[in-house]
Amino acid sequence: MAKPKIASDWMAGCAGCHMSLLDIDERILQIAELVDIRATPITDLKEPDESGVDVGILEGGINNTANEEVAHKMRKRCKILVALGDCAVFGGVPAMRNFFKLDEVLKRAYIETESTDEEGKIPDDPELAKMTKVRAVHEVVPVDVFVPGCPPDPDVIFYVLSELAQGRIPELKDEKLHWH
Ligand code: SF4
Repeated sequence: MAKPKIASDWMAGCAGCHMSLLDIDERILQIAELVDIRATPITDLKEPDESGVDVGILEGGINNTANEEVAHKMRKRCKILVALGDCAVFGGVPAMRNFFKLDEVLKRAYIETESTDEEGKIPDDPELAKMTKVRAVHEVVPVDVFVPGCPPDPDVIFYVLSELAQGRIPELKDEKLHWH
């Protein structure tokens, strides 16, 4: 029987959730025996197979039109979608900017930062993604599994991947449910 296919991607986050995934260390070999690891930000293949994958994993919130495309593409191409980490589950750290107006945020980032000289300007190219309010993944596409944590604990990630690899929906509660 063919192994289930897993793909992942990241959006507005810090890559820490994928680093925590790598922190399952040698147990990644157990996962690799059970599943076919396809596109991820840390492998050569970057986009989930057009023919689809069994499990899609998204890290990060959704804060611009490019992120929206990533989320829609993964949702369309996967059977089970996992929101990995606080940013994906409820917006996390990036969502702190929702307390400010977008033009204030852009001005602070591109003009007012201490490391910016007098030539600083807000990028304005139609080819660039358009900034939006930061949203959790489930606010843009339906999510099947929520894995909170900043980042989620490697042991929890291993449990989630093991369950999904064996065709089960992981149940996150008690010691496996971390909000930190
Ligand atoms: S949940 Fe935490 S570790 Fe994961 S992407 Fe967001 S800030 Fe980084």
